[in-house]
Amino acid sequence: MKRITHFIGGKEWEHPSERYGKIFDPATGEQQSEVAFASPAVVDSAVAAAQAAFPAWRDASLARRTRVLFAYRELVERHKVEMARLLTSEHGKVAGDALGEVNRGLEVIEFACGIAELTKGQFSENVSTEVDSYSMRQPLGVVAGITPFNFPAMVPMWMYPIAIACGNTFVLKPSERDPSAAMFSAKLLAEAGLPEGVFNVLHGDRVAVDRLLEHPDVKAVSFVGSTPIAQHIYETGTRHGKRVQALGGAKNHMIVLPDADMELAADAAVSAGYGSAGERCMAISVLVAVGDAADQLLPRLLERIARLRVGPGDDPRSDMGPLVTREHHARVTGYVEQGVAEGAQLVADGRRHELPARGFFLGPCLFDRVEPRMKIYQEEIFGPVLSIVRVASYNEAVALVHAHAYGNGVALFTNDGGAARKFQHEIEVGMIGINVPVPVPMAYYSFGGWKASLFGDTHVHGREGVHFYTRGKVVTSRWPDPRFRGVDLGFPENK
Ligand code: NAD
Repeated sequence: MKRITHFIGGKEWEHPSERYGKIFDPATGEQQSEVAFASPAVVDSAVAAAQAAFPAWRDASLARRTRVLFAYRELVERHKVEMARLLTSEHGKVAGDALGEVNRGLEVIEFACGIAELTKGQFSENVSTEVDSYSMRQPLGVVAGITPFNFPAMVPMWMYPIAIACGNTFVLKPSERDPSAAMFSAKLLAEAGLPEGVFNVLHGDRVAVDRLLEHPDVKAVSFVGSTPIAQHIYETGTRHGKRVQALGGAKNHMIVLPDADMELAADAAVSAGYGSAGERCMAISVLVAVGDAADQLLPRLLERIARLRVGPGDDPRSDMGPLVTREHHARVTGYVEQGVAEGAQLVADGRRHELPARGFFLGPCLFDRVEPRMKIYQEEIFGPVLSIVRVASYNEAVALVHAHAYGNGVALFTNDGGAARKFQHEIEVGMIGINVPVPVPMAYYSFGGWKASLFGDTHVHGREGVHFYTRGKVVTSRWPDPRFRGVDLGFPENK
């Protein structure tokens, strides 16, 4: 059986591990490999390798750092189909979706290639007579990234290209369910000329994460995953004096006003609800239908759902792949049963959809007449389950979004420009789509939610990412001039 190990100090870690995790092929349900779980001592070795690499990498010129990133960008571009295949084999997502994930990650690498422009400081001449002031941003040291299973290539790419471009060294702890994309990235970074120890990959579970959170040489932690773990990471990391950005779970609403183009809205709801089997933090999981929108949408949704082909991710005919693990499949199916028990109407039952005989497959499920008191409304399901909530007015729809614990993404479908403008102004959510169901910001903007979808105050990538991975310094300088001799104990004033 294939064994996946850590990548530390520029090479694969050769020592055997005390514990291993199982990696499955979700399309067959069979184990395909095993992955080493890092002990605290292995975490210490990775952090030590990153710490040793830091002084030289911090001092590498901006030109050198940019060249390495540019070479890495070229390598990812050249090998992106291979990388996408790895994603499909461990995560299960269909090939086109996997390629889309790598392409969105590439955009962050391209953004990081502009690091020389992004870290430019400011200069003020003569802040006092013959005194100048200027600012600079400098790297932090060793920083860690802890990432979820659902975007094994893209979410780490939200972090390490920018962190490395800023002059930090990086320790990535990817999801233990689909760790191969991180190893593939590590090898391409080495091929691109990144010095040993600047990028390291540690595999494992809570044991590895907790050691990273406590380690005195880890200066900052970026986390993306579920809300309870995000809160744990934020609280533990900050208690140990680290800078932390922790992005959590989501329950994204799509509000459809009665004036919307119902064909477009139905296409969008089905694409955003069932794409990647609903395992996206920006998936739409609640359709808020205002007025008679639900009656107009329902037949259109059912017609589209019936046509969706569920099958292995590497079959070009498949629209939707399996769920990631047997446990996750059981959890999502449990929510479907719970929704029925709570009194919601299951108008499309994914358990009865045409499904392959083996693997962790569940077809698209649609609930109508879902109410805010129900667990299937309140909790993140993270599967192909879409809920319709019927409301009488725009104001009722907005109140629903505001009352929900999460605030990651939201979409409004309408042809009324005034309503759209009012919505984007008043809605308390981090990422807004106007007739766009999955409004993932471009690399040069920052990604992140509000409320229980984010712990900390910095979103990822874009300028906020550069800010997170650097700290500011301001220099005030005067070149000695004999005209200004003499002791003065007064507070420095500008003259
Ligand atoms: P998860 O929280 O279970 O795991 C995320 C990471 O934390 C993994 O690396 C995992 O090994 C680690 N981890 C798990 N349990 C831990 C513990 N007890 N202590 C320390 N570390 C632990 O999330 P997941 O199931 O891999 O991913 C799905 C979740 O991620 C969903 O909730 C989804 O909404 C969220 N997500 C959010 C965003 C966003 O941008 N807000 C993006 C993608 C995914």
